[in-house]
Amino acid sequence: MSSNIELKKVSMVLLDISGYTSFIKWHDMSLLHAEQIISELLESAIESLDGILTLNKLEGDAAFLYTEVEESDTIIPKNIIEQVNISFERFNARQKKLIGSGEGGCPCEACCKIDQLKLKAVLHNGEVAIKRMRQFEELAGKDVIIIHRLLKNSIDKNEYILITDNFYQLSGSGNYTSPDIRSEHCEGIGDVKVIALYPETDEIQIPESKRVRRFSGFVESMRLWRKTLLKRVTNSKPGYKNLPK
Ligand SMILES: [Zn+2]
Repeated sequence: MSSNIELKKVSMVLLDISGYTSFIKWHDMSLLHAEQIISELLESAIESLDGILTLNKLEGDAAFLYTEVEESDTIIPKNIIEQVNISFERFNARQKKLIGSGEGGCPCEACCKIDQLKLKAVLHNGEVAIKRMRQFEELAGKDVIIIHRLLKNSIDKNEYILITDNFYQLSGSGNYTSPDIRSEHCEGIGDVKVIALYPETDEIQIPESKRVRRFSGFVESMRLWRKTLLKRVTNSKPGYKNLPK
């Protein structure tokens, strides 16, 4: 048996940013800025988990982190819940900073809609197979599937911390304000008992100047897009014809 695969008990966190894919037209500047904005926001959310969790994978708008835990360790899960709450504060603060720094700046769709991005977190404990190859580490198993599938759930809020019951019990089910106890159907797995917490983040106020800019942003992005198109037509280099629209 190869020694670079191990079975371990782990605490896992999946952070996911949503809000862009539905309305961004993935062209040039918007695409570039959306990627920059997402990675800055993810970075700010991960910061507070540094030292407790290992970043295993960046998955587009999401980050998957984990740490090994002892069966009876209640401190790490409790600490993770607290730090994930702080992640929401940092995410919110960075969002405000990004909006503030864009004053008079870029009118692209991504930059104009930073306030619509929302953070979600899923926390789960389980047993996984950790496969190590060169500098890469892959986590596999039913519990890895569960944490990912739980992102598809029936919660009608767009900001939440979803904690599976086993994680919550282990954390000592702290005295959180009105935990929402629910059952979510996990495709191919069955029903999973979960607890949802709704972090209270500040409402993001868009300055009046930005509100105006958001409307004029559309016109401006059309103008830029036209310019880019024109440049492409007059440029002999092959374009990126196969990129999805
Ligand atoms: Zn932009």
